[in-house]
Amino acid sequence: MQIESGVSLKPYNTFGLPAVAHTLVRVTADADVRRVVDHPTLGRAAKFVLGGGSNIILTRDMPQVVLKVEVRGMRLVEERTDAWIVEAGAGENWHDFVAWTLAQGWPGLENLALIPGSVGAAPVQNIGAYGLELQDRFESLDAVDLRTGRSVTLRADLCAFGYRDSVFKHALAERSVITRVRFRLPRPWRAVLGYVDIERKMNETGVRDPSAGQLFDWICAIRRAKLPDPALLGNAGSFFKNPVVTPEQCHDIIGRDPAVVHYPMPDGSVKLAAGWLIDACGWKGKTVGHAGVYEKHSLVLVNRGGAIGSEVMTLARAIQESVYGRFGIRLEPEPVVV
Ligand SMILES: Cc1cc2nc3c(=O)[nH]c(=O)nc-3n(C[C@H](O)[C@H](O)[C@H](O)COP(=O)(O)OP(=O)(O)OC[C@H]3O[C@@H](n4cnc5c(N)ncnc54)[C@H](O)[C@@H]3O)c2cc1C
Repeated sequence: MQIESGVSLKPYNTFGLPAVAHTLVRVTADADVRRVVDHPTLGRAAKFVLGGGSNIILTRDMPQVVLKVEVRGMRLVEERTDAWIVEAGAGENWHDFVAWTLAQGWPGLENLALIPGSVGAAPVQNIGAYGLELQDRFESLDAVDLRTGRSVTLRADLCAFGYRDSVFKHALAERSVITRVRFRLPRPWRAVLGYVDIERKMNETGVRDPSAGQLFDWICAIRRAKLPDPALLGNAGSFFKNPVVTPEQCHDIIGRDPAVVHYPMPDGSVKLAAGWLIDACGWKGKTVGHAGVYEKHSLVLVNRGGAIGSEVMTLARAIQESVYGRFGIRLEPEPVVV
């Protein structure tokens, strides 16, 4: 277990926000977490679990003990007739893991290609993109309890997955360090299509029956064209969740703004495109201080250079207020504000 003091977190968050961790511990195995729990001073201190820092907004220095998860390893656990079960250490890079499974001939995660961050954080927010969510491929995970130091294995029913949500944002928030995640990749493989950008690629290329590798390449290309690369322009991906409203609320909004982008959900509710709402309020490309709204995608807030967390949150609140003022809808931030 490596304990460091006064560590700058700027290189460890994709928004490039400045903050210092008073204490940072690199976790490479369950035993490291247990050592922290049993430690005479660290054991009692508040903790923050850090993965790749692609879904956090740092607004201040961190008095908590930052546990930087660096558990490695990727392996095939079991080859069944109906599925491949694969496992990755929580500290593995998510995209590298997706690429590795494909290279091994175990497709199924390709729609989630190029999502930044670590494997261990993927269940926390039940990452999703292009018609697929982590929960659709989830088998189980291992986590260490930060109060008892005990390792547990959780299956899907205990993870309470929802839209960008899980038990790790509620009852188990700041309680667990996820150390390994297992995935069930169904056999035979079937492409997940139907998403509008994928349909467009199918029409452009004339390929009606893409392979997993082809879908992976398409999704990488679609994402690169649409989203800023955090290595070049600091950001945390979508800054707000798409709000879910009742059909009556949606009908009311359509009455006033017929062009509102909306998607009926299986449970009868309606999901509104938060990016469209922000666009409609005139925010695209705007800058406040050193933070701004990305020119190509209003749902993404960016670091124009030298931004601090409070500036980002000031911009976020201004957007929330104008969307509320015009549509009566409260946008909820997607990243964790620390
Ligand atoms: C350009 C860009 C595009 C994105 N696109 C998408 C997208 O399409 N779909 C999507 O769902 N998300 C997207 N995101 C958000 C982000 O990539 C995901 O939320 C990702 O899973 C975060 O991983 P991370 O390791 O960076 O987590 P961090 O930012 O480090 O942490 C996020 C949260 O998870 C907790 N956490 C992290 N690791 C662990 C662990 N091992 N155990 C317990 N808790 C942990 C942290 O405490 C924190 O609360 C995007 C982000 C960016 C920058």
